[in-house]
Amino acid sequence: MDIGNPTISDAYDVIVLGAGAGGMAAAVVAANEGLQTLVIEKTAYVGGTTALSGGMVWAPNNSKMGSVGGADTADAAQTYIDETAGEGGGAVLRRSFLREAPRAIDYFDRNSHVQLTPLAFYPDYYPDAPGATLGGRVMEPVALDARELGEAFTLLRPPLPEFTLFGSMMVARPDIAHFRQIFRSPASALRVARLLLSYAIDRISLHRGANLVLGNALAGRLLKSLLALNVPIAVNTTTKRLVKEDNRIAGVEIETSSGSKVLRARRGVVLAAGGFSHNPDLRKRLLPPEADMHSAASEGDSGDGLNLALDAGGYISEDNVSNAFWAPISRFTRADGSPGIYPHTVTDRGKPGMLAVNADGRRFTNESNSYHDFVQAMFRTHNQSPTIPAYLICDRQSIWQYGLGAVKPMTLRLAPYLRGGYLIKAATLEELARKIGVDPNHLVATVDLYNADAVHGIDTAFGRGSNAYHKYVGDPANEPNPCMRPVATPPYYAVKLYPADLGTAAGIRTNGDGAVLDRNDDPIAGLYACGNDMNSVMAGAYPGPGITLGPALVFGYLAAMHMASGGEAKPRA
Ligand SMILES: Cc1cc2nc3c(=O)[nH]c(=O)nc-3n(C[C@H](O)[C@H](O)[C@H](O)COP(=O)(O)OP(=O)(O)OC[C@H]3O[C@@H](n4cnc5c(N)ncnc54)[C@H](O)[C@@H]3O)c2cc1C
Repeated sequence: MDIGNPTISDAYDVIVLGAGAGGMAAAVVAANEGLQTLVIEKTAYVGGTTALSGGMVWAPNNSKMGSVGGADTADAAQTYIDETAGEGGGAVLRRSFLREAPRAIDYFDRNSHVQLTPLAFYPDYYPDAPGATLGGRVMEPVALDARELGEAFTLLRPPLPEFTLFGSMMVARPDIAHFRQIFRSPASALRVARLLLSYAIDRISLHRGANLVLGNALAGRLLKSLLALNVPIAVNTTTKRLVKEDNRIAGVEIETSSGSKVLRARRGVVLAAGGFSHNPDLRKRLLPPEADMHSAASEGDSGDGLNLALDAGGYISEDNVSNAFWAPISRFTRADGSPGIYPHTVTDRGKPGMLAVNADGRRFTNESNSYHDFVQAMFRTHNQSPTIPAYLICDRQSIWQYGLGAVKPMTLRLAPYLRGGYLIKAATLEELARKIGVDPNHLVATVDLYNADAVHGIDTAFGRGSNAYHKYVGDPANEPNPCMRPVATPPYYAVKLYPADLGTAAGIRTNGDGAVLDRNDDPIAGLYACGNDMNSVMAGAYPGPGITLGPALVFGYLAAMHMASGGEAKPRA
């Protein structure tokens, strides 16, 4: 088989559009259930935004959580989501998700190379809400040695270079602590030396580091599963239209370098093209204008799935609490001249000695809340006092310890970041205020109050450090509050933050099997959607880590099982 450019037959049982988590999950299950399956991917790479992501998978009541001391029930998870995400477009799907998630995760565990492991401590984002858990619901992909992909490794979308060392060395979450302690712990120094040696060996023969973790491991594991099942994957292939016959979707017309071709799909077509992050028209219609075109999603996610579903008689849910999943980003130009963005998810914002202010020089939210809530606060307060951009502020010690956006921890030379204007530096807070255009008196007063609160360990303004999630993103070694310490040692630094989506939440309305619904809420025969093409199970709320990839895997599984059963609900053991 020619990897990425296979010979394409005229007919398959299942045709999947999009090789991200949703699409590859559907294809793995369909092929494993004996259906002849084809994956079509528009870009040159497999993996989509999934490959760029943290790879966390929210899987309530999964069968492995007991192994890390977690306990859960579908009812507890239902209570938690209802409390934190409300009703809206996701309510119907939620029951299906909660009932099937444990089964789907077990299915992948038994029948594919997708192996996930629960995390003992990774709290839900509202840990004090009824039904919340502090760990076990969140699973991460087991690391993958990319050599196991053979020549298909070149097909896998690389991670964001800013999330790696030396441009392509991925670092697993537990190893970050070893890098931080490299000068203090001989065991950590040894671990880091091993990792560096292993990376150096990889680079002798490979185009990038082979130790895949996070979202790259998830995408790599899905890809490995497809290879094992001999599922053809056609990259650089676009879909011109869905073929409709006898009131059902019967195939797709594709466009390749050798021309267009109609392919028949006997059981169904799965739309898994990753949502509309890069579609200007849909953004204009569904997202706040302040978000502009900023997106951390991969470039192929441009609304094709939604538009194909609309043409076929489907519709987009418009009753979500948010139509996208948000994170603050900073912007810069890479050494090669390409534009870069850094999503400030968990690395810096919630750490001690970091605070965010608006154009008025005042804090506007709890910096240790989730990235999604942080951006919601930017939108909410922007009308009263400009908060886009906002500024993340800290001193040199905090950059050294935690990094600041694209500037990694323990960076000796900040000059390149200052020259390019990414970092703004000043000897005093007054000077920093003038450089970022805010009232110096306000900024000094804001930092003074923050510093005084940090000494006492109580954030009188926003309650930073008051719950388990804040503590998770803070620094447990910092006392009395893991999220606060005085910003007191000049020079001071600032970086500009803008809202960007990590993926879109508004999507095609489906039923609990992932079947696309028409305006009467009847399934359109032969058409399914999953991943971010499907409307969010959470109705655009972000109650915990992994709430897009969890549903992407589960509904990919459900759609494939539905097709395997010939469109009837299949009894599942
Ligand atoms: C930095 C970052 C970190 C994140 N971390 C997490 C996390 O830890 N947990 C979590 O749950 N979520 C996370 N997310 C969000 C998550 O990555 C996405 O929601 C998820 O990957 C979407 O999966 P998908 O399968 O729908 O789309 P994708 O993974 O984007 O895959 C869609 C694929 O379809 C292709 N495509 C598009 N149009 C067509 C077409 N016409 N024909 C064929 N192919 C097409 C695209 O090129 C792409 O390869 C993160 C996002 C970012 C940016």
